[in-house]
Amino acid sequence: MLDVVVVGGGPVGLYLGCLLARSGLSFTVLERRQRPGTHSRAIGIHPPALQGFQELGCAEAFLAAGIQIRRGVVRSGTEVLGELSFASASRAFPFVLSLPQQQTETLLAEHLERIAPGTLQRCTEVTGLQQRSTHVDLTVQNGDRSCSLQAKFVVGADGCRSLVRSLTGLEYPGGTYADTYLMGDFPDTSAYGQTAVVHLVNSGVVEAFPLPGGLRRWVVHTDVLNLSARPRDLVDLVEDRTGLHLPAGDCSMLSAFEVHHHAVSRMCAGRTVLIGDAAHEVSPIGGQGMNLGWLDAQALMPALMVAVRDPDQGALAMMKMERRRLRSARIASRQAELNMSAGRPTSPAAQFGRELLLRGLLSRPVQPLLAQAFTMRWL
Ligand SMILES: Cc1cc2nc3c(=O)[nH]c(=O)nc-3n(C[C@H](O)[C@H](O)[C@H](O)COP(=O)(O)OP(=O)(O)OC[C@H]3O[C@@H](n4cnc5c(N)ncnc54)[C@H](O)[C@@H]3O)c2cc1C
Repeated sequence: MLDVVVVGGGPVGLYLGCLLARSGLSFTVLERRQRPGTHSRAIGIHPPALQGFQELGCAEAFLAAGIQIRRGVVRSGTEVLGELSFASASRAFPFVLSLPQQQTETLLAEHLERIAPGTLQRCTEVTGLQQRSTHVDLTVQNGDRSCSLQAKFVVGADGCRSLVRSLTGLEYPGGTYADTYLMGDFPDTSAYGQTAVVHLVNSGVVEAFPLPGGLRRWVVHTDVLNLSARPRDLVDLVEDRTGLHLPAGDCSMLSAFEVHHHAVSRMCAGRTVLIGDAAHEVSPIGGQGMNLGWLDAQALMPALMVAVRDPDQGALAMMKMERRRLRSARIASRQAELNMSAGRPTSPAAQFGRELLLRGLLSRPVQPLLAQAFTMRWL
C-alpha cells in the first residue's frame, strides 16, 4: 500500500512527484508515455514556479536552459503602444523564463530520478480505479502485463482527457472559443532580442516570443483552424500584418490550434484528487495553464500530508485547498479571455479604442499591477 499514486507524468505530475520525494510519503508517478511529448505546448515559466523550483533545488538547471524574458512590448504598426517590465514581478526572478515544455518535462523527470530513483514509472498506463473506504485500487497496464496497485490517495494529473476524472464521475463542463491560432518556431531573424513582442493588428494579433537556441515562436490569430497549414502560410500572415519576413524553409515546428476552457466544480472525490489540466483547462493565450497546475501541486502537498495521517482532518484541508485552487483557475481563465479578446480581429474604429485602453494599461502607474497579473502573483 503506497501513500500516494500520481497518475500522469506530465509537467504537473512530475513536479508533484518531486514535492512528494521530500515529504517522506511513499509514492509513485505512473506515466503511459515512454518519453516527454514532442508536441509543442507551454514555453512560459512564471516567477512563482521558479521559486518552487528553487526550493526543490533544481532552479539552476532551468535557468541554464531557458531564456529570461524581462519585458514585453506592445506595438501597432511601427508605433510602440507601451512596454511591460517584469522587474516588479519578483525580487529573485524578475522575468518569465522561456523553455519548451518538452525540455521542462525532461528536467523535472531528471530531478525526480536524482532525488527519488525509480519512482517515475514510464510506459505504465492506469486503466481502472475503484475507491474503497480505506484506500484506492488501481489497475495498471505495462506492456502486456496487467497488475493492481493500492494507494491511500490517488492524484489525477493525467491532463484534460483525464481517465481518473471520468472514473471518479467528476464532470468537466466547458467549451471551445471561436478563436483559432497558428504558431511556429523559426530562427530568430528579428531585432527583438530577449523581448516578447505583441503586434496589435486589426486583422488579428501577432505574438513573438524568444526561445532558447536562437529561435523565436510566432503565434497569430487566424480566421479558421487551418490544420493543413504549411510554414509559408504563417510566414505570409506575419509579413502581411507586420512587414517582417521569416525564413519559411527553416521552420522547426508548426501547429494550428483552437482554444478550450473547462473546469471541474470539485477537485476531490473520496480518496482521489485532480490537479493541473485534469481539473481545469485555461486558454494558452496568457500562458498560465501549466504554471497553474504547479501551484495546485504546491497547495495540495500540505493537505495530502494531513490526509494520509488523518483522513477526517485531511478532508477539511482538501476542501480549503480545492476552494482556493478553483478560484485561482477562474481568475486565470478570465485573464486569458481578456488576453484573447485584446488580439481578436476588429474594425479600425474599435482598434483605435483598444489601443487607447492598452496605452492606459501600460502607463507607469498601472504597469506594475499588470505585470503582477501576467506573472501570476496572486494565483
Ligand atoms: C499551444 C499551447 C501553448 C501553451 N503555452 C503555455 C505556457 O506558455 N505556459 C503555461 O503555463 N501553459 C501553457 N499551455 C498549457 C500547458 O501545456 C498545460 O496546461 C500543461 O501541459 C498541463 O500539464 P498537466 O501535467 O496537467 O497535463 P499534461 O501535460 O496533459 O500531462 C498529462 C500526462 O498524463 C499522462 N497520462 C494520461 N492518461 C494517463 C493514464 N491513464 N495513465 C498514465 N498516464 C497518463 C499523459 O501521457 C501525459 O504525460 C499551453 C498549451 C498549449 C496547447
